[in-house]
Amino acid sequence: MFEVIHIPAFKDNYIWLLRQGMHAVVVDPGDARPVLNLLGRQGWSLSGILITHHHADHQGGIASLKQRYPVQVYGPACEPIHGLDRPLRGGETVRIDPLGLSLQVIAVPGHTLGHLAYYGAGCLFCGDTLFGGGCGRLFEGSVEQMADSLTRLAALPADTAVYCAHEYTEANLRFALAVEPGNRQLQHRVDEVAVTRAKGLPTIPSTMAIEKATNPFLRCTEPEVVASARLHRPEAFDEVTVFAALREWKNHF
Ligand code: ZN
Ligand code: FE
Repeated sequence: MFEVIHIPAFKDNYIWLLRQGMHAVVVDPGDARPVLNLLGRQGWSLSGILITHHHADHQGGIASLKQRYPVQVYGPACEPIHGLDRPLRGGETVRIDPLGLSLQVIAVPGHTLGHLAYYGAGCLFCGDTLFGGGCGRLFEGSVEQMADSLTRLAALPADTAVYCAHEYTEANLRFALAVEPGNRQLQHRVDEVAVTRAKGLPTIPSTMAIEKATNPFLRCTEPEVVASARLHRPEAFDEVTVFAALREWKNHF
């Protein structure tokens, strides 16, 4: 089994490094420097690069990493990804032999149109689609696409460890609490996350069970969520329109 290590980058990004023995794979290396530093310090070698979507904070480090380690870059086929060797559309399985790693590729359009998530060994790497307590903004896809993508991620096992690409949990939960002030598990998570952040620790990974219990974007059929959404968009009635109302409300929160 591999170990997952968080590499902080920029203001609030996480680059995920999966390591087994001396071999490592990185997910969304927006910046090469902290990755090269860690690999060099530990004497680990890079065996592959996984990209969830084309935004610079997720792929900006590819060129420098490839210069040092001539590895394969996996990523969305229909997005401009630097040095992409293995174009993916969802439904494939990525195997990285040095780590004995096998990941399913899941298409999760919404934040961007080609956005991918990688799932395997109980871990989900979901980029900017599902966040701790929230979800990504809709830059390219429709609300229907994003709602559908989140529904498919929510169908993964409850104990799935959710590795998203940003530390947005605390702010997301402030919004979640505005949506669902009566959610006890959410109140508990807010307290826990405050303690974790006060210690300067990451709140990621969470689990799918935690997200399903506290993330309003996965709770669009819960009565309190529907009622709150209707205060902002009275015509919201089903899962997708409630989701749309929440996403719009959050954009201005
Ligand atoms: Zn992004
Ligand atoms: Fe991002």
